[in-house]
Amino acid sequence: MFEFLRHDITFPLYVEVDEIYNLACPASPIHYQNDPVQTTKVNVHGSINMLGLAKRTGARILQASTSEVYGDPDIHPQGETYCGSVNPIGIRACYDEGKRCAETLFFDYRRQHAVRIKVARIFNTYGPRMHPDDGRVESNFIVAVLSGKPLTVQGDGSQTRSFCYVDDLIDGLLSLMHTEDSVTGPVNLGNERETTILELAQLVRHLAGSGCAIQKCPLPVDDPRRRHPDLTLARSTFDYRPGVGLEDGLLRTIAYFRELLEDRTVSRLARPRLRRA
Ligand code: UDP
Ligand code: UDP
Repeated sequence: MFEFLRHDITFPLYVEVDEIYNLACPASPIHYQNDPVQTTKVNVHGSINMLGLAKRTGARILQASTSEVYGDPDIHPQGETYCGSVNPIGIRACYDEGKRCAETLFFDYRRQHAVRIKVARIFNTYGPRMHPDDGRVESNFIVAVLSGKPLTVQGDGSQTRSFCYVDDLIDGLLSLMHTEDSVTGPVNLGNERETTILELAQLVRHLAGSGCAIQKCPLPVDDPRRRHPDLTLARSTFDYRPGVGLEDGLLRTIAYFRELLEDRTVSRLARPRLRRA
């Protein structure tokens, strides 16, 4: 049976469940910075409520943590034992410190109440069904090329990210959830191919068959310089092997956005005719 409930997890939730995936929280910098206090509340109050729910029902609970717990890392690649380098008072802190505090809560609920926890540290993920106004780099670049607008690279574009296709991430989350109770994580999930943002811009332009311009604009404050997951733990624990390469994943995502934007254009053009009818 499937039942959909729309609920703000900063308020208690009394339902009967046997598995909880706590994915609540905007992940795009422009969105989580739009209401930073609420971002911290979702991660802290929300996690407390979901852990309380898991404690009462005996459900397994998986936390969508993030590579942002490593902040602007000074070791590469980032392994799970690295404790990170986060600015606690910066504009990214509501997300980074919120997620770090959530991890603390997960491990304290395990130690204090024997809650069955799983913590995944998710590196940049992309794919079909991202919102065109999501604001993260993959959808920004794709929507720009398909709309004939310039791609906006922040800074000199030499900063790196490692992009994971959504299906590979979901496989990882499901595998982690179904490991035995002794496996808690934290465990990195992502893709090991590291790419500069400038390379990504050129690749998106090439794959979309566009000749649009690449513009530079200022780098946001506290933007991490490099991000690259060490996936040894995920590989050895549940044979995690992300299989969708960057070119393939981008082509699938471009196809999705092309259809979405065409549908929007068609419905915009159709609207006046419908009104007149
Ligand atoms: N909680 C919830 N659903 C439940 C059980 C608890 O939302 O099924 C909330 C509850 O409101 C509480 C929080 O989870 O504030 C933490 O629960 P816990 O049992 O740890 O705290 P306590 O109730 O002992 O303060
Ligand atoms: N970025 C960019 N142009 C954009 C959006 C993002 O150059 O339109 C850069 C951003 O400065 C960062 C990287 O792309 O270095 C990834 O940004 P995103 O917001 O996707 O996620 P983050 O990994 O920073 O949370």
